Amino acid sequence: MKVLLVFAHPEPRSLNGSLRDVAIRELEVQGHEVRVSDLYADNWKSEIDRPDFPSLDDKTPFQPSRASKAAFAAGQLTEDVKAEHEKLLWADTLILQFPLWWYTMPAILKGWVDRVYAYGFAYGVGEHSDAHWGDRFGEGTFKGKRAMLIVTTGGWQEHYSARGVNGPIDDLLFPINHGILYYPGYDVLPPFVAYRVDRIDEASFDRLAENLRERMRTLSTTPPIPYRRQNGGDYLIPSLELRPGVGEPAATGFALHVDRRDAAE
Ligand SMILES: Cc1cc2nc3c(=O)[nH]c(=O)nc-3n(C[C@H](O)[C@H](O)[C@H](O)COP(=O)(O)OP(=O)(O)OC[C@H]3O[C@@H](n4cnc5c(N)ncnc54)[C@H](O)[C@@H]3O)c2cc1C
Repeated sequence: MKVLLVFAHPEPRSLNGSLRDVAIRELEVQGHEVRVSDLYADNWKSEIDRPDFPSLDDKTPFQPSRASKAAFAAGQLTEDVKAEHEKLLWADTLILQFPLWWYTMPAILKGWVDRVYAYGFAYGVGEHSDAHWGDRFGEGTFKGKRAMLIVTTGGWQEHYSARGVNGPIDDLLFPINHGILYYPGYDVLPPFVAYRVDRIDEASFDRLAENLRERMRTLSTTPPIPYRRQNGGDYLIPSLELRPGVGEPAATGFALHVDRRDAAE
């Protein structure tokens, strides 16, 4: 497999840095090719702004998605963004790795998504009409590829459990897993989450590292989260609401968009 790991931690000697090295080593031992986008080391520019679109004339108000669409279509995105597109198209598996900061990804990684996910590349793909609302949520540019998150948290696993004060981890990561990875077509694997990591000893690190190696060994065989496909029949189009009767009657919110029928059989 060809794996792109996008790494968002400012310190290579951090726990995240060590876990990244563990993951890369195991992937290479398994014979996979690995490329890394190390956002802090590369001094990645995180904000999308007018200088991203030099061909936009000064009189035109800056409308990010319109500018993105035109620049992508004309091959005029900036070189740093084009380089990430080449890596994403090369990879058959994408890993995003980051520490959980304020319940989500660090700003630099969000900015990577904002700038790299161009209109026509990651969104605005496929027919958009009242009968077909784009190729997305299970379809799109990355259909057939896999993706997963590697995340570390200061909070305990219990804090992120179904009744934990932070909210369930699957809910917190839903906007990333479903909204950023599934949206442009990736099959999204369950995340690797390392909890309560701020003060760990060597034995805990060794356990974490072994669990991560196991996830890297099973990258191509781990079943993805069974999100419902937008164009698979479960949703009304164009309202994009689940059809009446689809899903567990008691389910609400994010959980409704995971199809647990196979698991229940
Ligand atoms: C701005 C900000 C917001 C945050 N928001 C949240 C939040 O919303 N929710 C939440 O749960 N947490 C939050 N945190 C905590 C954060 O998620 C953790 O601090 C982070 O995940 C720890 O990862 P790290 O790589 O920075 O660890 P580090 O600080 O680098 O290391 C953690 C521990 O691992 C040890 N270690 C590192 N490398 C090794 C190695 N090779 N072998 C053995 N031991 C090693 C270190 O000695 C240390 O004890 C936040 C932190 C910040 C700074």
